[in-house]
Amino acid sequence: DAKFYFFHNIYTAGIIAFISYYFCFKLEREITDIREKTKIHEKKLIYIANHDPLTGLINRRRIWEHFQIYKDRKDLYDSDYAIAIFDIDDFKKINDHYGHDCGDMILQEISKLIKTLIHKNIKIARWGGEEFILLFPYANPQVIEILENIRTIIERHIFNYKEESLHVSITVGSANSKQHDSINAVLMEADKFLYKGKKQGKNQVVYNPLCFSSESILPI
Ligand code: GH3
Ligand code: MG
Ligand code: MG
Repeated sequence: DAKFYFFHNIYTAGIIAFISYYFCFKLEREITDIREKTKIHEKKLIYIANHDPLTGLINRRRIWEHFQIYKDRKDLYDSDYAIAIFDIDDFKKINDHYGHDCGDMILQEISKLIKTLIHKNIKIARWGGEEFILLFPYANPQVIEILENIRTIIERHIFNYKEESLHVSITVGSANSKQHDSINAVLMEADKFLYKGKKQGKNQVVYNPLCFSSESILPI
């Protein structure tokens, strides 16, 4: 009868409403779950895209973003930045004598060592192979002091590999933005000085003293 159908319909509607609510709830939970997992994956991907897997340092791609920030800052406020490129001396010999694993260990240890020697506002990246880059948010004589300090500490550091105690040195080329408008021009000058240092006998910091002296006013 009508009363029976009335309650029957209400009962059925109730069950349908409950089931729908249950599935919506489950679906929402799953979507939240997927979103969280995607966020974690995204973070991992961003990390991988910006870091060198061997040394854990930021890579060329990421440091380029920092260059751009300093370049923009220079354009706006005329504040200079400095760059240093360094390359491990005779690294091929180390690989040939002690093996590639030993070379890898040295790359890792140098990275760690330098991180302990520099302030957080100085960026270090693996530029490629056995070349690294440092980016300073200023361009004063302190840059050269820091670079000399890094060079000396690496020269004196003992790298232990199996039973061997090894020594390595680095050659550094440095330049700053005082005389240059583009990041590439600064990089090219630093690279030119690195090359000069290699030719002059390695294990040294090479730069243009005029560009790093606090007194001199340079023509632009
Ligand atoms: P120089 O003093 O002129 O820089 O001489 P070098 O022997 O350091 O330079 P060269 O360019 O001849 O050799 C660089 C070597 O660095 C060759 C390459 O196998 C090695 N190398 C580059 N990347 C890695 C790496 O990730 N791990 C190891 N173990 N070796 C690497
Ligand atoms: Mg080298
Ligand atoms: Mg090299």
